[in-house]
Amino acid sequence: MKFQALVAILIELEKTRSRNLMTELLATFLETVPAEEMSRALYLLLGQLGPAYQRVDFGLADTMVVRALARLFEVDLSEIKKTYGRLGDLGEVVTELSGEEEGEGLSLKETYEALSAVAAASGKGSQEEKVELLVGLLKRLSAIERKYVIRTVLGKMRLGFSDKTLLDALTVMESGSKAGREKLERAYQIYPDIGTIAALCKSNGLNGVEQKVGITVGVPVMSALAQRLKSADEMVAKMKRVIVEPKYDGQRIQIHFERTDKGELIRSFSRGLEENSFMFPELAQAIEQIGVKSIILDAEAVGYDPETGKLLPFQETITRKRKHGVADASKQVPIRFFCFDVLYIDGESLLQLPLWQRRERLEQVIAKGDYLQISPMIETTSADEVREFHAKQLGLGLEGAMVKKYDGVYQPGRSGWNWVKFKEVEEAKGKLSDTIDAVVMGYYRGKGKRSSFGVGAFLVGVLNPEKQEFVTVAKIGTGLTDEQWRELKRRADALFVDEPPAEFVVPDSLIPGVWMEPSLVVEIAADEITRSPLHSSGYGLRFPRLVRFRDDKKAASATTLAELQEIN
Ligand code: ATP
Repeated sequence: MKFQALVAILIELEKTRSRNLMTELLATFLETVPAEEMSRALYLLLGQLGPAYQRVDFGLADTMVVRALARLFEVDLSEIKKTYGRLGDLGEVVTELSGEEEGEGLSLKETYEALSAVAAASGKGSQEEKVELLVGLLKRLSAIERKYVIRTVLGKMRLGFSDKTLLDALTVMESGSKAGREKLERAYQIYPDIGTIAALCKSNGLNGVEQKVGITVGVPVMSALAQRLKSADEMVAKMKRVIVEPKYDGQRIQIHFERTDKGELIRSFSRGLEENSFMFPELAQAIEQIGVKSIILDAEAVGYDPETGKLLPFQETITRKRKHGVADASKQVPIRFFCFDVLYIDGESLLQLPLWQRRERLEQVIAKGDYLQISPMIETTSADEVREFHAKQLGLGLEGAMVKKYDGVYQPGRSGWNWVKFKEVEEAKGKLSDTIDAVVMGYYRGKGKRSSFGVGAFLVGVLNPEKQEFVTVAKIGTGLTDEQWRELKRRADALFVDEPPAEFVVPDSLIPGVWMEPSLVVEIAADEITRSPLHSSGYGLRFPRLVRFRDDKKAASATTLAELQEIN
């Protein structure tokens, strides 16, 4: 298969904002892709070289790409910079300067491999090597192919669809409709590698995928997430017998460990499935407490004060980590991993076991030690005992309690009633039962005092998962400290885009001065959620204020419209 065929569909996709049309275009295209090309095609459609959890960084900044283009066209750097200044997108620059260039008609595989070589170059002198390799690839491509290669290298492919739309498209490809999508979804939840799922779908059909994928050490499982209920009585009514655990205010971590003859594999992933092993060098010692060959643990990483032994709130753990750098931070802010679930042991998936049995297994396989701690728990059918436990945790300075169904399976994602969070409703969180994790969609340049920060207000939205759109819910212009305004500006400018992203639905009256890529998630407190015709969500927030930046969350895990209704 030619790379041109993929580029042809990218051009079509770029012209539309309709998710249904995108799904159809993708399904029609994927029908033409042979099984052995499927995974590469899927990764390239997303501007990636592998599954999202292995995000490849090409390690080439704009300036290096400018240098590559100067070399490709044999012109001065200043000429490329001038055109870049005019067009604002290096993908457009390369297309314009390439004229009618036809290229050699490289295959998808050749292009993929050449891009992989650019990404793989590392070490001393690798910038130069990357530029050379990139120029070599560009020389063989047509004007339009070059555009998408440049966007891929710069991580700016963004066509406004994600793995989710691709799961839809694969289902349509196989069944002609979205019927049966849940089969792919289930497979994807335990093996979130869209390329592998697509290849299996092509060769085994919709029904065959689930049999072929299994929970695997080194591949993250989508994390189970908590639902909300208003009271302990409702929780007990819904789940009957429950296990109640402290709700730690740390960072979710899924720990993968395998001991083989060849050595040890230690890997960990965030709630958003990004690998974060590098942040936790302590894991190398922690796994000494594990008495089995392989395991996947669900846990919360929490920093503590080495002098007092007291657990630190998330914000403090993160700040100290940033300040001291990873290696030093593990001394300054030692970490404990509070394990509350186990998903896999020695080749056996435990996802379908009832929670109480998984907790028993957890007790059996983790030896006492400093790093891995098993979270305490109580088991009860009494709402009073749930409340009491919750109050006790608040007294200990924790965030509240997690209330889990005693015989519930491990359910990836936020569905079913297996996990419910029981948080404190305190002044700082506003008068709502929970805070809102919103995506920053853009900002307005400031007038008056805040003009010195370069930003006077910002627009935030929540997720409408059915349409995979972001809909607006608040324009926030107050309640930030000076430092937060500055930080917002800095972060916003790194995410600046020329055009409103395809998945944004923003009413004309709210169009911001600067659009941003949907990537920055902020936690917002408010006093009330009201119906509002002003916002595309249909809701607005009373007295919205920024609680913190949620670096641990991706836009795809922002609060959804349905959750917004629950929070009220
Ligand atoms: P969510 O993860 O539900 O979208 P969030 O990240 O804002 O939302 P909360 O909703 O407040 O967090 O609570 C869920 C998170 O709580 C988990 O992702 C996990 O990081 C943390 N947590 C702390 N203690 C526990 C526990 N005992 N069991 C499960 N999760 C826990």
